[in-house]
Amino acid sequence: MNTSKPVLHRSLKSPIYTDNGFALKRILAAASYKLLPGACLLCGLSAGGDIDLCGACERSLPRLDKHCDICANPLNCPGICGRCLSQRPSFSTVQVPLLYQYPVDLLLQRFKFSGQLAAGKVLSQLLARHIKQQVDSGKCTLPELLIPVPLHWKKRFTRGFNQSEVITRELSRELDIKYCRQAIKRVVNTPPQHKLSRKERQRIPHSAFAAGRKSRLLHGARIALVDDVLTTGSTVEALSRCLMKEGAKSVEIWLLARTPLDN
Ligand SMILES: [Zn+2]
Ligand SMILES: [Zn+2]
Repeated sequence: MNTSKPVLHRSLKSPIYTDNGFALKRILAAASYKLLPGACLLCGLSAGGDIDLCGACERSLPRLDKHCDICANPLNCPGICGRCLSQRPSFSTVQVPLLYQYPVDLLLQRFKFSGQLAAGKVLSQLLARHIKQQVDSGKCTLPELLIPVPLHWKKRFTRGFNQSEVITRELSRELDIKYCRQAIKRVVNTPPQHKLSRKERQRIPHSAFAAGRKSRLLHGARIALVDDVLTTGSTVEALSRCLMKEGAKSVEIWLLARTPLDN
C-alpha cells in the first residue's frame, strides 16, 4: 500500500484554476497562497526562501543580457538600437529582467489566463529584485508613482482582473512606492495584441487612452508605467505619450518580460 502523502503545492493542477474570471477562484487562490507551505511553482520541490521558486529553477530562468539602453531590445553589444536611434521613444528607459521564453511564458500564461496569483507574485518579486539591484548599483533612482497599464472596462470585466494592477500592487508593497490606477484610462477597446498583425499593433493611437479622474497626480511626477510583457512596444509608447501630455516629468517602463523585437 502506498502510504506517501500527495504533494500539495500551489500549482495550476488544482481544478479551481481551470476557468477564468470567477471571484471564488481568485479568493481560493489567494487563500492557498497564504496558507500552504512554499513550494516551487515550476518543479514542486521546497522553495525555501521568500519566493516560490527553488534555487535551481530560479537560476534557469532566461535573463535579458545585453540590450538597448532605451527599449531593452536584446542586442549583441550594449548601446542604443537602430529603431530608437531613428525614432526616439517618449519614455526614458525600460526595466525588464526576463525574456519571454520557457518557463517565463508558462508562468505568465498561468497568471494571466488561469488566475494563478502566485505565478504573478513570483514574477513581480523578480522584477522588484531587479529594480533594487539597479538602484543599489546606482544605475537608476526609484520613481515617485507607479501606473498600471489600464484595461478597457469590458476586457477587465471579462477577465475578472487587470494583470498590470496585480503586478503594480506587488511592486508598490516591495519597493514602497505609491500607485494609482485612476490617473489614466483606456477609452478604446483594442483587440488582444496576439490577435493583431505587427502593423496593426504598431498603429495603436495615443487617443486610445485619456486622463482619468486622478490625473492631477501625474503633474511633475517621475512615473514608472507597469505592464506584463513588451512585444512591439506600441501600447506603452501610446500610453507614455499620453502621460507626458498630462504633465508627467518623465516616464519609464517596468515589465516582467519582453520578447526580442525580431521575433
Ligand atoms: Zn524548482
Ligand atoms: Zn531601442
